[in-house]
Amino acid sequence: MVQIAFIGLGNMGAPMARNLIRAGHSLKVFDLSQKAMKALEGDGAVAAESAAAAAADADFIISMLPADPQVAGLYLGEEGLISRLENRPVIMDCSTISPQTARLVSEAASEKGFRMIDAPVSGGVIGATEGSLSFMVGGDVDVFRECEGILLAMGKTPFHVGGAGAGQAAKICNNMLAAILMVGTVEAMSLAHKNGIDPKVITGIMLKSSGQNFMLERWNPWPGVDEKTPASNDYEGGFQSSLMLKDLGLALDSARAVDSPTPLASTIRNLFSMHVQLDESVRGKDFSIIREMYSDT
Ligand code: NAD
Repeated sequence: MVQIAFIGLGNMGAPMARNLIRAGHSLKVFDLSQKAMKALEGDGAVAAESAAAAAADADFIISMLPADPQVAGLYLGEEGLISRLENRPVIMDCSTISPQTARLVSEAASEKGFRMIDAPVSGGVIGATEGSLSFMVGGDVDVFRECEGILLAMGKTPFHVGGAGAGQAAKICNNMLAAILMVGTVEAMSLAHKNGIDPKVITGIMLKSSGQNFMLERWNPWPGVDEKTPASNDYEGGFQSSLMLKDLGLALDSARAVDSPTPLASTIRNLFSMHVQLDESVRGKDFSIIREMYSDT
């Protein structure tokens, strides 16, 4: 059993933290939301007054925050954990951020004698709840090995990709594909629907045909096809459109940097961007709500 500070108890962080508790680890947690901390206290975690208080006696810190500014704010600068902590817990940042910020934090950590990996995840809230997440890890391979047992308490497949930031570089590619698959699935299901085919029927057909994909199977965008998906729950509890917009922005930045063509990702980023401009409330809803751009039934 190890002492873990878990920072960021949102849609992903909360179920990941619960799986660590189930695996017998001792958790001190921190989130800006008191409600999120209360829920985890009910599952056996200790709620801390700040991220620094959660990490003060930790062997590992796991962060699961929205984007670059929150991760940089947590670790860097005079108020950041890297300057403030006297102990030297291993840092595992599981948020999806740019490879550049991941490398910046890793360099600052290493200068002060911390070990760190970037370990973004894939599998969504269902994967986080089931403990079946994939991890894409950047950092020293020895630190990866040190973290592997903890990663396996939250997921099934940890991949070591390369040095600092490499996990994020891989994650960005995966999410670009996830966005393309979601929009492709929505487009095909909308066409089927307008041709009078029941969404459950077309799902069943495509699951056994060449259109089969993760979104169709595990994240079906049509309300009522699968009761477990965000689409069947008013698009709550999944991967917010604002986070997908962030990830598509990261993909396009990465593509520009290496001159890799991304016509589909560019179009799809514009589609998500237009959707949140048309209706601000979409930002906090699961990204499968992009279906509403195609069909209002
Ligand atoms: P979320 O918005 O549901 O949760 C983020 C949590 O962080 C919130 O509870 C918020 O209160 C907390 N927070 C924000 N700033 C903080 C700070 N400074 N200190 C402490 N807590 C703070 O987001 P999520 O869906 O859990 O996603 C988290 C990360 O995981 C993102 O980078 C996202 O891109 C990535 N991700 C999400 C999914 C998914 O399906 N939701 C899948 C893979 C990766």
